[in-house]
Amino acid sequence: MTAFLSRLRSGLAHVKQYEDLLLQAKARSLVPIDLLSSKAKNRSKADERDSLLLELLSWFKRDFFRWCDSPKCDFCNAKTLPRGMGPPNEQELRHQASRVELYACTTCGRETRFPRYNDPAILLETRRGRCGEWANCFAFICRALDYEVRHVLDWTDHVWVEVYSEAQQRWLHCDPCENKCNKPLMYEAGWGKKLSYIIAFSKDEIADVTWRYSAKHDEVRSRRKECSEEWLVRTIHHLNQQIQSRLPGDRVAVLQQRTVKELTEFLTVRLADGDELQGRESGSEAWRRERGELGKESIRSTKSQVGYVFTPSQDELTNGLMAVCYSPVHDAYYRCMSDDILPESAPYIRSWREGLFDYTDVFLKEESDWEMVYLSRVEGTDVGEIGWKFDLGGADVSISCALLKCSSTTYENGKVEWSIRISDGKDVSIPLGDSDAIEVTELQGKKTFELRARLLGGRGDVAWQHSQLFRTPLSNKNGFPFEITLIFEDSGA
Ligand SMILES: [Zn+2]
Repeated sequence: MTAFLSRLRSGLAHVKQYEDLLLQAKARSLVPIDLLSSKAKNRSKADERDSLLLELLSWFKRDFFRWCDSPKCDFCNAKTLPRGMGPPNEQELRHQASRVELYACTTCGRETRFPRYNDPAILLETRRGRCGEWANCFAFICRALDYEVRHVLDWTDHVWVEVYSEAQQRWLHCDPCENKCNKPLMYEAGWGKKLSYIIAFSKDEIADVTWRYSAKHDEVRSRRKECSEEWLVRTIHHLNQQIQSRLPGDRVAVLQQRTVKELTEFLTVRLADGDELQGRESGSEAWRRERGELGKESIRSTKSQVGYVFTPSQDELTNGLMAVCYSPVHDAYYRCMSDDILPESAPYIRSWREGLFDYTDVFLKEESDWEMVYLSRVEGTDVGEIGWKFDLGGADVSISCALLKCSSTTYENGKVEWSIRISDGKDVSIPLGDSDAIEVTELQGKKTFELRARLLGGRGDVAWQHSQLFRTPLSNKNGFPFEITLIFEDSGA
């Protein structure tokens, strides 16, 4: 119970830092408030302050803060590997980093330190971390914009924020790592967390807000073994009396009214829906899996039979040529009669998926950091597979020349295996993957085939990203990393 009490005390001490007016001014200077306010005004329905909060959440995640599982090397920017914890130095201690993670560079071997700062002011500069840093810095920025905030500690190792909505007269759950607002059941229903204590701290009070975050109050209650419920209620009440004895009477009355309203809200058990059912998004897949926060269905191996087959049109048969290409930037397939494929022309099929015969655990990845787009396998799977089918059908023609351009990119020990499957069902491996087309002589005289790729290998957390198909910069609107040209001949002749 002493440990519990000291956590409560330090939670209260922590949020006091948000009241520093100079630091608040510094935080405000970093927020593009005019831009966010005008965006907020354009949001249709909600209250303007509530809308601004949503804009802040989205700006914070997209433009301001970065997630950091393991930092890049300070010296050469290469990948690092964890090598345990170290003691903080003086400068790190000054910014309340009681824990410092150490990383060794995989390239130059030097050591990079990742101090876990608790000082919200330094986080305005470092702008990186995990949920602790994210919630701390976001809460501080909201406070600087004159929102009433709570810093919320979940005893099962997560941290987020609550912001008071004057319009709705209640506290809104905000998770800056996930850019989620008002989805309190997402941890229990989506991430599969076994919640116990969730305590919120603001400058004026402590609140046990556990019940907002659970639809299974009995289960949660059975896990609360750190202290008696009675002790907790009494202790929180006592601490709140201490804090509020310094507040004016009308403010205390407001806080008490809110408490009564909040307790009523906690008694109404709601069922999770929509977004709340999803697994965690922030952090690498391995990190999330270790924490068991992937959600129920995130690891799957599902073969999807799309069944699309490319067949020549009457015009293409007459011309003796059929050409299909795909642009990941437009996410569309095009058909053409000549060399000039223009994305301005109407796409033949919209979406990579719609043009497939089948696929297993592959998706189209848009990397906003690097502004790249490509197909890769789903996180957490070992193999992804994808197949396109071509069939000349009943026409009296067969392939005389097949030119295939299928570019793939690999990193580390990632692999992409290209093959063709001819009607007898055997897969013949073909050395595709280049950015140039090659002639596949195995297809001469054939009428139907499948083109297949398997994505496998890769190292570590991001193994799934180490084998990619069609990697293209998002700015490259005229790039076609996939082009299939089939020239026909009369098979009767
Ligand atoms: Zn290095």
